Amino acid sequence: STLPLYSPTRVRDLLARHGLKPTKSLGQNFLIDGNILRAIAEAGGAAPGVPVLEIGPGLGVLTREIASRGAQVTALEKDERLRPVLSETLAGLDVRVIWGDALDFDYASLPEGTRVIANLPYYITGVLLSRFMHAPGVVSATVLVQKEVGQRLASRPGEDNYGFLSALAALHGTVRHIRDVPKGAFLPAPDVTSSVVRLDFDRTRPLPDPAFLKFVETALHHRRKTLRNNLRLSGLDGEAVGEALQEAGLRSDVRAEDVPLADLQRVAAVLGVIR
Ligand code: SAM
Repeated sequence: STLPLYSPTRVRDLLARHGLKPTKSLGQNFLIDGNILRAIAEAGGAAPGVPVLEIGPGLGVLTREIASRGAQVTALEKDERLRPVLSETLAGLDVRVIWGDALDFDYASLPEGTRVIANLPYYITGVLLSRFMHAPGVVSATVLVQKEVGQRLASRPGEDNYGFLSALAALHGTVRHIRDVPKGAFLPAPDVTSSVVRLDFDRTRPLPDPAFLKFVETALHHRRKTLRNNLRLSGLDGEAVGEALQEAGLRSDVRAEDVPLADLQRVAAVLGVIR
């Protein structure tokens, strides 16, 4: 057929010929829009010789777009039913598919300069993003996520969607919104609008202290509550918390979501959570 691989007709035909139905619990929403595929590959930095990690190649449409730009693609796919599909759609391309759960993969083994490019399975977005952040070889992640997750990633303290995910992203680098993606760009269409975001990880900075990450997670647990309450609920002594806030120059009733990370760091230091 002369239709491109990502056209709805070809995608339906692939599924039918291989007797497959997209599995909702695996987040299988396949891209059927060429402009979006090109935009993701482009924004993700797919170029000759660049090591790229893709999570969930699915039918291989995005994989093809990335590999045909000369990138060295490693793709992790959990759904073994897709084996015959990928051997058909990726024929002749230099792609290594690893069959297994992306949650079990050793991200620390990735080579320096790795770029993640993926239409992520939405049910594990948060965990995967934190795995990428902690992998020293990964320099960027260009990912399709639910629009709301994209907003959370890019929010700053005091903004509407600010929370632990925002803090985590800010502690590792910068976030850029590339574009929104309507439901109709997928087959089947998901329930919500999506966004392509690009995270650039600053590998010149040391990785944040795990004890501080834990503290930030605690501090933002109920983000509309006061910082003081969040910290007290986590078992810290109320009086010590009160003094630490004062020493850090924060009001005792400051809301957790309004506190800049530098201030949280001072509170954590005063409380002896970090050095
Ligand atoms: N890349 C394809 C595309 O854009 O059309 C498919 C994207 S689809 C949103 C998510 C893909 O991730 C599916 O192929 C699904 O089987 C796969 N997947 C889901 N959970 C996974 C896991 N735990 N590990 C690896 N792959 C997974």
